[in-house]
Amino acid sequence: MGLAPETTLPDGRVDAKSLNLSGIRQLVEGIGKEDWRALQIYKWIWKRGASSFHDVDSISRQARAELDHRAWLPMLDLATRLDSEDGTRKYVWRLSDGAYIESVLIPDEEHPGGRRLTLCVSSQVGCAMACRFCLTGDLGLKRHLSASEIANQLLQVQADLGANRRITNVVLMGMGEPLHNLDPVIIATQNMMHNDAMGMSHRKITVSTVGLVPAMKELTARSPVNIAVSLNATTQEQRRQIMPITARWSLAELMDCCKALPLPRAKRITFEYVMFKGFNDQMDDAQRLVELMQGMRCKLNLIPYNENPQRDLRRPSDLTVWRFQDLLVSRGIHTSVRRTRGRDISAACGQLGGAGHLADRVSAADPSAAWRAAQIQAARRGETRHIEDGKGDLLGSPSRSSRATDPPTTVTESAFPNA
Ligand code: SAH
Repeated sequence: MGLAPETTLPDGRVDAKSLNLSGIRQLVEGIGKEDWRALQIYKWIWKRGASSFHDVDSISRQARAELDHRAWLPMLDLATRLDSEDGTRKYVWRLSDGAYIESVLIPDEEHPGGRRLTLCVSSQVGCAMACRFCLTGDLGLKRHLSASEIANQLLQVQADLGANRRITNVVLMGMGEPLHNLDPVIIATQNMMHNDAMGMSHRKITVSTVGLVPAMKELTARSPVNIAVSLNATTQEQRRQIMPITARWSLAELMDCCKALPLPRAKRITFEYVMFKGFNDQMDDAQRLVELMQGMRCKLNLIPYNENPQRDLRRPSDLTVWRFQDLLVSRGIHTSVRRTRGRDISAACGQLGGAGHLADRVSAADPSAAWRAAQIQAARRGETRHIEDGKGDLLGSPSRSSRATDPPTTVTESAFPNA
């Protein structure tokens, strides 16, 4: 396997969850079925969480077998789930090649805009960007995630939560640089957004980047999702010291690109700014930030650095962060401070990627994880209909009553908002 994962099995079957709706249409056309069947199958995959085409009992047995012959519906294997005392939860997934990725679920009851339940999703195994302060970067880039591995994180965490606790926001701020894996990220977010799939609004999905200039332009041209840029410094030299990508795309080029992005009127670009004690937390830095953002439709998110023993970087005091924020607010910059969440389970920003070994230990000692893994393998072979421990289908939807003769609009149950 190279950097891009195989989405075709040795027997020629394609990963149908790495396709968007037009891809599913082509697949269905290939077996000579009507176009409306494609939409029906698409709904089964992304609203009902079908793990095998044999689940799709609204199409004929023969059509199911033909689809099964040409494609498969992968699921992630849950290695372990870790709960923080602050309500944050980390999901560690083992991928089919044995690699691990993590997703972090962050409840926020106090958000000024109303209660939120945010899922932080990974886009790569490791990361090539080597930002000096980030632990994921220590892994290097192992490989990209497929579109199905990205979107399955949302599908499967939502399924785990059940229909009463809905994920309201998705941020691609987990392991990896999403814009270094652009096509799968675009397909996965299409499947997160489509009303016949997971039905999340584009306003609730944010892709965060170190600032890969051409890919930022391409993303905004091809997708309506929100974009966040990890700025983290205010001069070329300062940024180069902590973010090597600055040698490729300078701070000036990045800011020019941000200014020229054709954002819809209602959208603002978000700048993330990790604050390090004595490095970028002085009033001069705040002043330069104001100048950089002058005249832009943007907001700023200050992230006090999450310390870890592997780095000599320090977090500024709360007072320093408040003063910094005050100056920005007084100059008219919309500025928030990100609270640190999930530190006790290494789920905070920049701490993802170290749980693989832990997951190995936990799953070895956890028969239910092993059981689930076996179920998933069986589901992949088309032998079983459900992977959840007897809870019915993945999204906890009501019974499956639709039949081959039903019109294509019958599959409407969903655990997702706006569906
Ligand atoms: N590669 C993307 C997304 C992943 S990182 C990006 O860089 O934007 C998500 C955010 O966490 C980034 O803003 C990054 O600067 C920040 N971050 C990384 N390590 C951190 C740490 N130890 N403490 C606080 N924030 C950190």
